[in-house]
Amino acid sequence: MSRLQVKIIPVTPIQQNCALLVVEDSRRAVVVDAGGDVARILAAVDEAKAEVGAIWLTHGHLDHVGGAAELKAALAARGVAVPIVGPDARDGFLMAAVEEQGLAFGIPGLRNVVPDRWVVEGDRLELGDFRFDVLHCPGHTPGHVVLVEKAVRFAVVGDVLFRGSVGRTDFPYGDGPALIRGIKEKLLPLGDDIAFICGHGPGSTLGAERRENPFLV
Ligand SMILES: [Zn+2]
Repeated sequence: MSRLQVKIIPVTPIQQNCALLVVEDSRRAVVVDAGGDVARILAAVDEAKAEVGAIWLTHGHLDHVGGAAELKAALAARGVAVPIVGPDARDGFLMAAVEEQGLAFGIPGLRNVVPDRWVVEGDRLELGDFRFDVLHCPGHTPGHVVLVEKAVRFAVVGDVLFRGSVGRTDFPYGDGPALIRGIKEKLLPLGDDIAFICGHGPGSTLGAERRENPFLV
């Protein structure tokens, strides 16, 4: 099996970890959580000589989705048609308010977005030989999904779980108990050896968080 290369591109003033996942041999790639700063995402794509086949979104917050429509349009202008996939449809209300939220946060240029395809728990997203299972992990947002590649023990967890912390739930639509339940019942059982990248800051492993994360112990 080819290797999966992971390049983190912090975007927006919120420093959200947009991720470029590239199959080492074929250069096939996806961009996860294209939150903004599209020129920087495209520069990373070009530097990696990556051929982007899709844009995947973990949840509807502006710093994760605000650049997706612009990235799709920029790739289309190069003759590359890519679908925007995810999150779960329950985040649609957030993705319809990105422009309004961007103004409120003082981040211009972000765009509302409607994905080409919503995902649901149990879906499987493919990148070459890599297969990412979709897990619905609400609480931070109602439609948040986590993407898990079990064969190579790797996950993209968005804003569900961080190194030493968990996602905020102090929104009108937040649900703290649901967030912790999702982490404990869906993520931790996947195994201590699963390495993950997250929406902000450094990644970690599920084992390190199970043992040391103060929100979980
Ligand atoms: Zn978020």
